[in-house]
Amino acid sequence: MEKLYEGKAKVIYKTEEEDKVIVFFKDSATAFDATKKAEIEGKGVINNTISSLLFELLEKSGIKTHYIKKLSEREMLVWKAKRFDLEVVVRNITAGSLCKRLGLEEGLELKPPLVEFFYKNDQLHDPLICVEHIRLLNLAEDWQVQSMKEMALKTNQVLREFFKEHGLLLVDFKLEFGILPDGSLAVIDEISPDTCRLWDAKTREKLDKDRFRFDLGDLMEGYRRVLEKIQGG
Ligand code: UDP
Repeated sequence: MEKLYEGKAKVIYKTEEEDKVIVFFKDSATAFDATKKAEIEGKGVINNTISSLLFELLEKSGIKTHYIKKLSEREMLVWKAKRFDLEVVVRNITAGSLCKRLGLEEGLELKPPLVEFFYKNDQLHDPLICVEHIRLLNLAEDWQVQSMKEMALKTNQVLREFFKEHGLLLVDFKLEFGILPDGSLAVIDEISPDTCRLWDAKTREKLDKDRFRFDLGDLMEGYRRVLEKIQGG
């Protein structure tokens, strides 16, 4: 298969159809601008399984995504999208960069949820930006920014409720958006414990990538517990 793009955790391959691509989930884990790196056997398989399940849930809930189907353990078939250079973060509970930036304690409930935009640019270390900056840099039209915000909040409602039913707290998560071949705005990339903070609802134990970032325990054990819970275990 011809490689179109290789990122930190995934590879994108061409297919025989111009408008579809394959996402291949690797085992690589990176954090802190890729200064911390590791190969974690089986992570790609779990992230593809969790992402596929969550994209199916969003599609069922009327949220447009690039997802077509899961092809194999590590591969997902998706619509080819023109990606915005933006990361959209939704937060329900304070954690991570929000606490650092604003000097807040971790674990405070955010009501209503907070939506933030980051400029996807490695050289600049993905800075936090506002709508005026998005306009200045021509990263998206105003109506697209508004739609991304609405879709991110709807995604939050769906995911938060779903995780809650399975004993998990959705602390925060990152979404990426793109334009699909039919012209629609859609959620793309992945939704997994690499891109969401998920805590055990009873114990508040961290089950996501923070385990890797801060050496809190075996990453795969956390990810497996997330998968078991959302599969009904
Ligand atoms: N996130 C991500 N990719 C990034 C940055 C953040 O998936 O490049 C996710 C992260 O896992 C968390 C949420 O977005 O669930 C908010 O991250 P935050 O801004 O707190 O930054 P971090 O603590 O990861 O530096």
